[in-house]
Amino acid sequence: MLRPRTTRTALGLYGVLLVVPTLVFGWLYWRELVRDYDAELAAVPEDAEDAARRIVAGMRHRLDRLLEEEGERPFHQYGQIFSAVDAMGDEVSILPSPLVNGPRPQGILGWFSFDLGETATEVDFFFGAGRQKSDELLQSLTLTLSDFRDRKAKEGLLERLSQLEGSASPFPLSAVSVHRSFKSELLSCVVECSPHMVGRTLPVFTSELHSQFFRRADGTPVAIVSRRILAKPNKGDLPPEADCLRPLLEDGFTTQQGIVVDVDWLLRRLPFEVAAQTLGESQELISLNPAQPIKEAPTVFAHILPVVAMGFEVEAPGDEDFGRLDVAINTDNIRLRFEKQSKRFMGVALMMVLTMAAGMALLYRSVNRELEQAHRMQNFVAAVTHELRTPLSTIRLHGEMLLEGWASDPKVQREYYSRIVRETNRLSTLVENVLQKSRLKESVVEAQPGDLNRVIEALKPNLQAPEGGSADLSFELEAGPRALITSEAVSGILSNLVENARKYAPVSPGGEPIQIRTREEGETVLLEVADRGPGVPAEERERIFDAFYRIGSEATRTTTGTGLGLHLVALHAESVGARASVENRSGGGSVFRIAFLKAV
Ligand code: ADP
Repeated sequence: MLRPRTTRTALGLYGVLLVVPTLVFGWLYWRELVRDYDAELAAVPEDAEDAARRIVAGMRHRLDRLLEEEGERPFHQYGQIFSAVDAMGDEVSILPSPLVNGPRPQGILGWFSFDLGETATEVDFFFGAGRQKSDELLQSLTLTLSDFRDRKAKEGLLERLSQLEGSASPFPLSAVSVHRSFKSELLSCVVECSPHMVGRTLPVFTSELHSQFFRRADGTPVAIVSRRILAKPNKGDLPPEADCLRPLLEDGFTTQQGIVVDVDWLLRRLPFEVAAQTLGESQELISLNPAQPIKEAPTVFAHILPVVAMGFEVEAPGDEDFGRLDVAINTDNIRLRFEKQSKRFMGVALMMVLTMAAGMALLYRSVNRELEQAHRMQNFVAAVTHELRTPLSTIRLHGEMLLEGWASDPKVQREYYSRIVRETNRLSTLVENVLQKSRLKESVVEAQPGDLNRVIEALKPNLQAPEGGSADLSFELEAGPRALITSEAVSGILSNLVENARKYAPVSPGGEPIQIRTREEGETVLLEVADRGPGVPAEERERIFDAFYRIGSEATRTTTGTGLGLHLVALHAESVGARASVENRSGGGSVFRIAFLKAV
């Protein structure tokens, strides 16, 4: 009753103090791990959108800077030569245009300018300084602009006017004249008339830059940023001396001018340049081949339509998708990291579980051992108390009867005296046994080679049945070699085993006597005490040699004893290097065996 409860309490405490907190902390940590992983995965599309926004912002910034500069360029610079606007004196100052000898910014294939309405006039191309205009480029631009021009020609009046919001600003007449004359023969006339144009201006409309994206008939993508210039006709406002300029200005003019954007730069190189600076480690920008249909890759989480994002107007449906870019985020890293963390966690958890299980098993064993020890001690105390009380009361009773003179018959007196002596012997045996246990545990005995049979022969008289008992022992002592023994050990062993046999397997009249035999076996010399008693159950055979151990419960046992007899047998055996064991005897009963070492 006490044992399972105490064991349960000990294991319960262990669980509450160690196992439960460990499990709770483990579970909390695991939950946190899974939550982080889920949150990281859930944040991926948002991260991708964010990355896409950053790329678009970077691209826009670059393009806006480029267009801002172009937007500030005065219209009259679109020519081979131009006259500085601030040269308002008598002289016109004719300079080569920066579109011819200035640098050409990255992203611009070339500048162009053409008169609207007069399809016969050529488109002028400018490429800046330091670049050979290849025939191939020129040819491609010519195709591009002819396509563009056709589109412009098809624009309705409303469309044209919508591009000309705001009011016209006055522009020096001399600068306009130089701009218009660079293609005609009239430049010398302009130079001559310049003194008469001092202070005169012409109202000129300049539209905002307008970005357009389209595909040429051959499929080549084109991105053009252009504006429209419109100068009002100048009728009657020319001094007679500048009459030669009348053909240049009389009808006014409408010009379309702008830049041809390098599509390859805008849609391919620029995004990747920006991406290299803005994308994180596991993020990647993917450009799909425009010839291929757009397909969803599993790791792609955000799309960029650069044509639209860069503010280009498209005409044909589907052109918005041109050069589509995808931001792909590789979730493998997140998964791998999670797997690594989970593996580490599982390893630690497994170790903890094993450690805790081992701890529990050890605790269970140790608690059980302690309890068993305590139980045995309890039994021992109960047994000793009983063993002391019985002889003491017998001695007292018989002593008192003798003292009171109740036994006058000398025969009865003798009987009483001998009982007193017997009980005193029993008491001293008990005390001797207890003392012997501690003595044998502490002292070291020097085993000597000796003849086991001879020692037994010498012990025979002491082993005989107590007075009045019939002879219940038989001896089968085979001739054997000398063994490592001491006579004290052999005597201790034999007396205890014989006493036990008489106690647990008493020989009934005419029954088989208790057998004491010796023989040689291998490297040992065996001493066996065999009886026809109840035998010893297999599971008890180890433990009956433990101190204070008795089979069964103290409450139900009928035999008296302290659980020391077999322990003393084992201690005596150990003291000479021998081993004690028990096994069932065929035909019933048990055989207690002591294997002494042969003397060499
Ligand atoms: P005790 O005799 O004082 O009980 P022992 O150490 O001599 O203590 O014996 C331990 C237990 O072994 C006994 O309680 C008994 O149940 C069992 N035992 C000992 N000898 C025999 C035997 N010859 N036959 C059966 N059981 C035995």
